[in-house]
Amino acid sequence: MTELSQRARAEIDTAARYGTSNYNPMPLVLVEGKGAWVTDVDGKRYLDAVSAFSATNFGHANEQFIEVAIGQMRKLELTSRSVHAEGFGKFAEAITKLSGMDRVLMMNTGAEANETAIKAARKWGYKVKGIPENQAKIIAMHGNFHGRTTTIMSFSDDENARDGFGPFTPGFELVNYNDIEALEAAIDDNTAAVILEPIQGEGGVIVPDEGYLKAVRELTRERNVLMICDEVQTGMGRTGTTFRFQAEEILPDLVTVAKSLSAGLVPVSAVLGSNEVMAVFTPGTHGSTFGGNPVAVALATAVCEELATGKWQQQNQELHPVLFDGLRALVGRGLTDVRGAGLWVGVDIDPAIGTAPDVVNDLIERGVLIKNTRPQSIRIALPIIANREEIELLVREMTAVIEARWAAREQ
Ligand SMILES: *Cc1c(COP(=O)(O)O)cnc(C)c1O
Repeated sequence: MTELSQRARAEIDTAARYGTSNYNPMPLVLVEGKGAWVTDVDGKRYLDAVSAFSATNFGHANEQFIEVAIGQMRKLELTSRSVHAEGFGKFAEAITKLSGMDRVLMMNTGAEANETAIKAARKWGYKVKGIPENQAKIIAMHGNFHGRTTTIMSFSDDENARDGFGPFTPGFELVNYNDIEALEAAIDDNTAAVILEPIQGEGGVIVPDEGYLKAVRELTRERNVLMICDEVQTGMGRTGTTFRFQAEEILPDLVTVAKSLSAGLVPVSAVLGSNEVMAVFTPGTHGSTFGGNPVAVALATAVCEELATGKWQQQNQELHPVLFDGLRALVGRGLTDVRGAGLWVGVDIDPAIGTAPDVVNDLIERGVLIKNTRPQSIRIALPIIANREEIELLVREMTAVIEARWAAREQ
């Protein structure tokens, strides 16, 4: 990377001195964003293909959502949930209609939404299905990412993320993703639920075979097991449908959403569920001080209204080939695989041309902000408001980087 300016150096050094190293950020200090672009302290602009891991799907500094947030902050920012705040009903109606689910419960982060879904599934298991007390099992997938709480780490297979944080919460079992037989074999009488990402995001945009989600839905229904779709990253228009489960025309029992539910302005998450499952929550059984706060609700309502037009999903589907086919052309010439949906693509780097971080560095030099998820995988998540020119720019820059590395590789 190019040499750091004094201003960038100062920020990085002070953060390193007083902050905690639970992340390892690239040496890049951003100060501004607009649409699909961000600007660093030295005025250099980057096309943002990270989109805060899909939280800023509607781009940066989106006036429409800023107005909503500021307007609501001026009016009423936070009440306790011991009273009603006007607007929640309208949001609840909007998101249930958008998803086809019956009910919603609001939290703040993706991890909290998943914790909530786990609690709902367990309680449903005991109170409705009749699983003996403390015996409920939830099946999750190898390669999953559902958040960072101790219970969620209990069913992660990322050893780096787990090391030193035990003892873990019992009651989880892992099976291979995209393997319906493995799932079938793992289900027993005490199985309350299966939790999965419809496309594994942190895993590197792993798209299961067509029909897999439908098969999971049929199997879980047959065996009286809940299906929980973690749509924290795939949801809210990211993949070309509002929710990814809609691509296979199924309806899960529980769906979690977060990230771009507030267009990236404040942390907001939600659990969507069926009447039967959500009925397990009665007053006092679950909650959060900021869960369902008026600012979050106002923003999430605005996002739902925007997605209800269908405009972004359609644009996303139309532009998908520009991104996907553009990158696919590099398979066999520096990339080993390209997969994805909508404006969300995972690419694998041929080790012959280097590692994913090498390619990421080259692209950042050239003004494309991008991040690897695994040592040889890069996830590209342009905001869903990105236009054709911006997508073409990304393909052009990626092509230049990969071709240069391909030409220079050791034969
Ligand atoms: C990001 C993510 C989460 C965790 O969300 P946080 O808001 O960081 O807690 C959970 N599930 C998936 C699929 C995610 O991508």
